[in-house]
Amino acid sequence: MTISSLYHTQGIRGSKYQKTDRIKDTEIYYLHSKAYRLACPGCNSRQTSLVQTGETRDIRGLCIGLKKTIMRVATRRVVCRTCGASTQEPICFCSDLYVRHTKWAARYALVLRADMSIKAVAERTRMHWETIKNIEKAWLAKKYRRVHLGNVEYLGIDEVYMGKKLGFITVVRDLDSGDVLFIGKGKSGEALKPFRKRLKRRAKYIKAVAIDMANSYSAWVREALPDADIVDDHFHVIKLMNERMNNLRRSTMNKLEEEQKKELKGKRFLLLRNEENLSSDAADDLKKLRFEFKDLGTASMMKEYLRNIYKLADSYELARTAFLLWGEKAEASGIRCLKQMSKTIRYRLDGLLASWKHAKLTSAGQEGFNNKIGWLTRQAYGYRDEEHLHLNIYDLPKLSMRKIL
Ligand SMILES: [Zn+2]
Repeated sequence: MTISSLYHTQGIRGSKYQKTDRIKDTEIYYLHSKAYRLACPGCNSRQTSLVQTGETRDIRGLCIGLKKTIMRVATRRVVCRTCGASTQEPICFCSDLYVRHTKWAARYALVLRADMSIKAVAERTRMHWETIKNIEKAWLAKKYRRVHLGNVEYLGIDEVYMGKKLGFITVVRDLDSGDVLFIGKGKSGEALKPFRKRLKRRAKYIKAVAIDMANSYSAWVREALPDADIVDDHFHVIKLMNERMNNLRRSTMNKLEEEQKKELKGKRFLLLRNEENLSSDAADDLKKLRFEFKDLGTASMMKEYLRNIYKLADSYELARTAFLLWGEKAEASGIRCLKQMSKTIRYRLDGLLASWKHAKLTSAGQEGFNNKIGWLTRQAYGYRDEEHLHLNIYDLPKLSMRKIL
């Protein structure tokens, strides 16, 4: 092995090559640094000497085929005669003092990560799972160290449940670009406090905010962004309707005999999925279900009716009439979840109709993003590194679906 081939295959610079050892499936290259004078990292003085420690440090390089490679580097200390500090000499083909892999090994791991899970990358590169995770984390942290608000005009605020361990988080997005602007812990206005500080000058340009209906973001928006419209958009209305319908399904199920219970248990998706997305068999099942469980049937029809308002109403006035009619029907049904929904609709009519005022706020992007987050959290089940998970959420809009863990 020559220093030239080490440079071209492993990105090794600033070192002299000594010898190679071969142990089983590992190639070990002995290197030592070429630098003869370094500035003190503490006081920047050039009055330093380099002192051999007599020790070596092993740095992982790129595998050659199935073989591991290790750069065994003789370490030195930079001793400063001005301030007296003694620090470790940095290795110029590593990204910092503490990593034990070359820059090229990290870069290759990131390339593989584009379509492999961390576990698969760890196996392929023969590095530790934790190392691959840290490489990705460091890269994402650099990428999202400063998240700029840019020319944001439309915000989306959402709560996301990350599982038992991590609880809820609040995600703020730019609805035009799809970028994630902020992630806060918890699901109340409190979670948004740090974001308000960042908004400052941008606040007056925000035209509308689409929010999750189920919680208290509206109070925060009214206070922090008094000029912005609050929009209860399509996606969140249907989400709330689905949640309430699912409660009805659960309570219906609890009243049933075992035999019937089974029948209803696996039918959740029939009720929650959009009607046009069901296969013809599933559509027949839904018909049967609607006939057998009258209240659930009515609720499921009313959900489709609600969705159709968004599809068909092409003016503010028409939408208003349709929502009011929906409310009357819901009241008349006497079904609890529909009555609840009717109350919500009446109470938040302005927010619902704001969807027609801000035609830009389509739900497609939001739904897609929420699906991605859901998928990420499922991947991240039992996940401990919260910061890494948050960084991955910042990166989500730029990702196609791939295995995360
Ligand atoms: Zn110094």
